[in-house]
Amino acid sequence: MSKVLIAGGGIGGLSAALACGRAGAEVALFERSVKFSEFGAGIQLSPNVVKVLYGWGLQQALDEVVAFPDRLQVRSASSGTELGVLRLGDVMNQRYGAPYLAIHRADLHALLLAALQRQGGVALHLRSSVASFEESETGVALQLEHDQQVRGDVLVGADGGWSRIRQQLLADGTPQPTGHLAYRALISQARLPMHLRSSQVTAWLGSQMHVVQYPVRRGEWLNVVAIVHGRVQGDMSHWDHSGNAADLQQRLQGCCKPLKDLIQAVPSWRLWALSIRPPMRSAAEQAFGRVALLGDAAHPMVPYLAQGAGMAIEDAAVLARVLGQGGLFAGKGLADAASQVQALLQQYAQQRWRRNARVQATAIRNGRIFHASGLVALGRNMAMKLQGEGLLDQPWLYRGT
Ligand SMILES: Cc1cc2nc3c(=O)[nH]c(=O)nc-3n(C[C@H](O)[C@H](O)[C@H](O)COP(=O)(O)OP(=O)(O)OC[C@H]3O[C@@H](n4cnc5c(N)ncnc54)[C@H](O)[C@@H]3O)c2cc1C
Repeated sequence: MSKVLIAGGGIGGLSAALACGRAGAEVALFERSVKFSEFGAGIQLSPNVVKVLYGWGLQQALDEVVAFPDRLQVRSASSGTELGVLRLGDVMNQRYGAPYLAIHRADLHALLLAALQRQGGVALHLRSSVASFEESETGVALQLEHDQQVRGDVLVGADGGWSRIRQQLLADGTPQPTGHLAYRALISQARLPMHLRSSQVTAWLGSQMHVVQYPVRRGEWLNVVAIVHGRVQGDMSHWDHSGNAADLQQRLQGCCKPLKDLIQAVPSWRLWALSIRPPMRSAAEQAFGRVALLGDAAHPMVPYLAQGAGMAIEDAAVLARVLGQGGLFAGKGLADAASQVQALLQQYAQQRWRRNARVQATAIRNGRIFHASGLVALGRNMAMKLQGEGLLDQPWLYRGT
């Protein structure tokens, strides 16, 4: 049986391990942290992603922890006026065969991990930082820091935006700052006054800023993300920086009262400077030789389409399907044939890179539309009024792969 080595145990790495394990692979995953955990914030999961997760038998586990927002409402950040609505709930389910969910990242991470542990067949290694890899005719050797080397047939780089695997594979530098800052917070809905509690996704659009809020954890918590233009000193590529509430309030002082009330109700913020790469230009950015890239390692993106984790999960599903259907996990001795392994990884890359590139490009374009001002903002608001749901729905995306 062929062995899949996975670098990184975030949502992408765990998804790849689960999918490849389900397809019959022997899997070893290496995560540099001392424990498997995720930053405390929410993410939205659209029907294309939920369909994949349900297909992995996770419906019940998801249903126990997610929130099912009933609609997405777009509002003007300055006046509070409704600009557009996309119905979620049953409508999404009927249209795309799966619901639109909002989940705490730690809950998603934990349920993927629990599924992996139930499934067995996957060796999970903590405190294992990957340093480099070496390919040969017969396999790939992964070098961990502290000298240990592990051998496998395929290496999956799921080690995030600052991926070491990508750096070695493509030598194309690091993600670049966008000049956008994300302030993120979770607040118990019970602690909010009634008028600020919510069961929907709300996107507030303003000049050079937007705010998105939605419920998580069965609706008990509200996730709030405020994106503003600006730069900060130092390495802000981790979530361990606290954001200054007074700074944020200052930046959002031109907003309408309901939005200002919400921002003021949040006791503490985490701050992250958003960095990205340009949309993928070729399949080589998704796989080369015996190495596949997945999730943020392959296609870091701005979160303005809410799809970064979603695309990591889709990558994982396609990778496992292609390798499994290609006979890699059936113990047919493909491991000896480098060209066959490479051909399968090329299939994976061909099936993924254009969709990932389109998602990256659409997310960047959304940022420009969300943050528009003056005549451009007027045009946007008019278009939303005239086209209604048609402008907010994304059939090409939500239908799935
Ligand atoms: C503000 C914001 C909002 C977002 N909202 C959404 C949303 O609503 N929906 C959505 O789908 N996505 C959303 N995203 C995007 C999503 O969070 C990411 O795309 C996703 O988490 C990427 O997962 P990943 O596993 O590829 O990378 P990561 O989560 O970065 O995981 C990488 C893992 O690799 C480990 N690692 C790194 N280097 C090494 C090494 N050398 N050796 C071993 N391990 C290593 C890390 O410790 C980490 O565990 C949002 C992002 C932001 C910033």
